[in-house]
Amino acid sequence: MYISKSFIPILKNSPSEAKIKSHKLMLRVGMIKQSSAGIYSWLPLGFKVMKKIEKIVREEQDRIGAQEILMPTIQSSEIWKESGRYEDYGDEMLRIKDRQDREMLYGPTNEELVTDIFRSSIKSYKSLPQLLYHIQWKFRDEIRPRFGIMRCREFYMKDAYSFDVNDEEALFSYNKFFLSYLKTFKRLDLTAIPMAADTGPIGGSLSHEFIILAETGESKIFTDKRIFDLNSDGTRLEKKSLDDLRKKYEQFYSVTDEKFNKEEFEKKVSESNRLKTKGIEVGHIFYFGDKYSKSMGASVDLPGGKKDFVKMGSYGIGVSRLVGAIIEAKYDEKNEIMKWPISVAPYDVSIIAMINKNDTSSLDRANRIASELEKSDIQSIIDDTDENISSKIKKMNLIGAPFQIIIGKQAEADLIEFKELGKESQKINLTTIIKIIKEQKVIN
Ligand code: ATP
Ligand code: MG
Repeated sequence: MYISKSFIPILKNSPSEAKIKSHKLMLRVGMIKQSSAGIYSWLPLGFKVMKKIEKIVREEQDRIGAQEILMPTIQSSEIWKESGRYEDYGDEMLRIKDRQDREMLYGPTNEELVTDIFRSSIKSYKSLPQLLYHIQWKFRDEIRPRFGIMRCREFYMKDAYSFDVNDEEALFSYNKFFLSYLKTFKRLDLTAIPMAADTGPIGGSLSHEFIILAETGESKIFTDKRIFDLNSDGTRLEKKSLDDLRKKYEQFYSVTDEKFNKEEFEKKVSESNRLKTKGIEVGHIFYFGDKYSKSMGASVDLPGGKKDFVKMGSYGIGVSRLVGAIIEAKYDEKNEIMKWPISVAPYDVSIIAMINKNDTSSLDRANRIASELEKSDIQSIIDDTDENISSKIKKMNLIGAPFQIIIGKQAEADLIEFKELGKESQKINLTTIIKIIKEQKVIN
């Protein structure tokens, strides 16, 4: 891809209307364009990143045995009246009337709709567990949309729902998602900490928010620093192992402000381990038992012949918010360098060629390198404009491909100037470059 032909509308300076660095960068490099308050179009660069995040989210849902479906964005008010949330949800719900004067709404979440799908087909404990998820746009008429796509009105979310025969099995499902979230965020190169959270309007008993630390985050958190040293390595997809994983995290105090209790914090965490800070919520999991299945009559036959309401949980990830969250975590605003984790980078490599009107040799070389990289499944973007090299580098630093290749006027035989953002450049051959990049692209 040539930068001259790409739709990447870069601004010279940081836009003044944006307050946090992710919003600034996303506008600056043209990842998104606002269409109305809290509603955005995703332009090629932003969309590429979001799609890669979505793919990782999907793979980690599939790995725990969740099945993907796709529910519509527009829902009927009927099912929300059944659950009792049609009134409760309040002004965040966008309510619409169709031409027959039927009350419709743009889904802010899908507990009701998925329960309706479930109850129409699943009748026996023998078909459980069922883990269903979809990745779909949501609309919440947020009172104060802000920070670009971080808190907007229309956003892209993965939401999953579990259905089990009893509490014990339901906790097994809950723990599967707990593991899958840790793995998902790790592949995005983020440290997301699970924090005990309030169950809020969804209701229920058990809940964790997954938070990444950021000064600009809207969630206040209180943790024991030692939680940052934990990981999910070696956890197997079976009850005991998953239970141990959750216990391992829960042994360290870590809560959001709704759950904060000063006395408890000070008793459980020694002064040197206390961390009070802010973070961004990127995921949220809930266990709420029969809250919806009871009101909506979703029951299953039990082994002994009796019936019971199915036990449910729900599990969200803010796919579009994650684009901003990764920028908050990775963008070095002072030096204007964005380095995308290779797993979600819009391009793996930027090729910066010194272009001379009468001599196409460096552009030819850039093209040859790009097509060699392509053969190894490495995506590049070539800066083919006639700007000077330093402004090209500046631009590529913002676009954020984690690697750069610079082709100067006098290129040496087979040595190429190659650099990983944030590190020294080196002159090496293409085979070595491909090897270095491929090593980083390995899925863990
Ligand atoms: P918040 O406390 O940030 O409003 P929430 O508790 O309402 O979040 P959930 O209903 O659990 O969020 O939604 C799942 C995920 O969707 C959240 O963890 C977040 O990443 C994302 N999300 C929620 N609201 C928004 C929004 N207005 N804009 C972008 N992403 C959002
Ligand atoms: Mg909310």
